[in-house]
Parts: sequence; structure tokens; C-alpha cells
Amino acid sequence: RKLRVVLCGLGSYATNQLAPGLSQSKNCELVGIVTGSPEKAAKWKEKYNLADKNIYNYQNFDTIANNPDIDVVYVVLPNSMHAEYVMRTAKAGKHVITEKPMSMDAKQAREMIAYCKSKNVKLGVGYRLHYEPFTNEVMRLAKDKDFGKPKFIETKFAWRNRDLNAWRMNNKWSGGGALMDVGIYCINASRYATGEEPISVTAQAIKTEPEVYRDIEETILWQLKFPSGAIASGMSSYTTNAHELSIHYEKGSLSMSPAYDYGPLKGTTSKGPMDFPIVHHQAYQMDGFAVAILNNKPVLTPGEEGLKDMIIIDAIKKAAITGKEVKIVMN
Ligand code: NAD
Repeated sequence: RKLRVVLCGLGSYATNQLAPGLSQSKNCELVGIVTGSPEKAAKWKEKYNLADKNIYNYQNFDTIANNPDIDVVYVVLPNSMHAEYVMRTAKAGKHVITEKPMSMDAKQAREMIAYCKSKNVKLGVGYRLHYEPFTNEVMRLAKDKDFGKPKFIETKFAWRNRDLNAWRMNNKWSGGGALMDVGIYCINASRYATGEEPISVTAQAIKTEPEVYRDIEETILWQLKFPSGAIASGMSSYTTNAHELSIHYEKGSLSMSPAYDYGPLKGTTSKGPMDFPIVHHQAYQMDGFAVAILNNKPVLTPGEEGLKDMIIIDAIKKAAITGKEVKIVMN
């Protein structure tokens, strides 16, 4: 049978990427929604042929516990709401996937993981690139070392975001700026490009328009050290567009641009162009989650994966504020 999925929060990502991804997936079906908007509920009900009993709002959401026709809730809300809805889903006895960044900080991520464990439900994080062939090749190169060990990684993810009214621009809702939103991809990539966990970080936050980026980071740069001696230099910003990953190995290099967009991704290595299938990231991701959840196997991108990025984000923020090198301890 197929994995029966409910989308919680019907904003841009749920509407334009996840719902189409679910339609294209082999092993999933969108069976329900959680929304505060009766207009959206009516539209989605018609478009996706949803049963009334699977349509929830934020007030009656907890009654999902009594609905046997739902396997998993996918939380696609503003960052500050992930923890609450992950825990309410777990309390209802349903598996849960949350969007990145999984939480506001590492402490909250740990609480979410422990709570889901205590309720015996799986917790996944929507790291779509882990299910995608170009990214899988970057991971394979870290393991098989075709070009030797990675020595230096340079990566940037930025987009021009000036929407003063958006939740992303308000620290209370976003937990930070470009670092939380897109810098997390660079952090995650530095980890899968090396196959290692970083041991320390230095960072610099630069603000040129404090009236726009009031209580969030505008541009932030950081440098991660890895146990093997590899170094990763990262940048994220809300002032420009960038989406590159380059890796310099002992005996070769890899360069992807774009490395993080929904696709098509593109890249070359010292051996020539990267030739991999262009896939629908969200469809592949959802099929990956479905196989794991339906067969009661560990998910590929669990809460623990999200926690590691949150530990690094906390360290980058601290390094930028103190101007000092901050040690990173993963447990
Ligand atoms: P969005 O603003 O388009 O959608 C957020 C939704 O939450 C809206 O429908 C809004 O109505 C709803 N909502 C419910 N209660 C709310 C409240 N109290 N305040 C504000 N909004 C409320 O945002 P989005 O771009 O869809 O992002 C949602 C999440 O998905 C974020 O965590 C983001 O980081 C993540 N995301 C992930 C990817 C990816 O590629 N994995 C891409 C985009 C966004």
C-alpha cells in the first residue's frame, strides 16, 4: 500500500513543490491537509480529492490521533512552529516529517528527537538532496575517494529576500536569517562532501542594511575545520543570488552550479560533466520516506541528521558574535 501523507501548512513549498512531488511519487499519496484557511481547504479538497474527515485546522489538529487513515504528517510551517507541530503529531501517534531547519536551535532539536522516540514514531527531516543523484555522487566520492580526500570546500547559497513582512525576516519566527534558511544547505553539503563532522568554526556576520535585516543575519560567512584537516568555507546571504558547491580533493575537483536548487542540478568533475538523471526532488524524497516508514526501517534523513546541522548553526552564530573559534561537539 501507499504511504498516506497529510501536509501541515499550505504555503509556497507545500503548494508548489511537495504536493506536486506527492502526485509524482510512486509510494505516497496526499490524503489530507492542515490549514487555518477555509478557502485553501476548499481548493485543496477539490484539486486533490481529499476526504472531509482528513481536513484539519490548527484547533482540531490533535483529533488526528483518532484517524486510522493517516500515516504521517509533514510539517511545512514557519521554522518556529516546527517543534510544536512535530510534538503534537507524535503525541497523536503519527510519524512525522519536518522541514529544514528542523528547529530553532540544537536544544529544541534534541527535545523533538527524544519526544518522538518516547512516542515510538519516526521523525524525518526534509533534506530532499539526500534522495537526489548528483548529491548522492558527492556523497559517494567522499566514501570511495576517486579523487583522494577532500581538502577544501567552498560553498554559497543566497537569495535576494527583502520582503519585510515575511516570517523569514522576523527572528521570532525564523530563528535567524539566511543561515537558517539556506546556509543550512551549505553546512549539510560540507558534511556530506567530507563524510565527516566538523570540530570547530570561525564566522563573520556582515550587515549593510540594518533597516531591512533588523534582527536576522543578512550575510554570514564561516569556516569549518574537519578532523582530517579538510576546511569548508561557507556563505549565505539575503542580498544576492548564489548556489555553488566546489570541492578540491587531493587529486581532482568537483564543481556544481546550481548545487541546491530544485533542479536541474549541474556539475563537472576533473573527469568531465556529471551525467546523472534529473529527478523531481520532492517525489524522490517522499518515496524514500515511504519505503522506510512502510517497512519500519530507519529513515535516511532522521531528526539526528537535522540536529547535527542545528549544532553547527548554533556554533556559527556564537562564533560570529564572539569573533572567536568555537569548538563543535556533536553529542
Ligand atoms: P510560506 O510562508 O510560504 O508558508 C508557511 C505556511 O504556514 C503558510 O501557508 C502560512 O499560512 C502557514 N502558517 C500557519 N500558521 C502560521 C502562523 N502563525 N504564522 C505564519 N504562517 C503560518 O513558507 P514556505 O516557503 O512554504 O516555508 C515553510 C517551511 O518549509 C520553512 O521551514 C522552510 O524553511 C521550508 N522550506 C523548505 C524548502 C526545501 O527545499 N526543503 C523550500 C522552501 C521552504
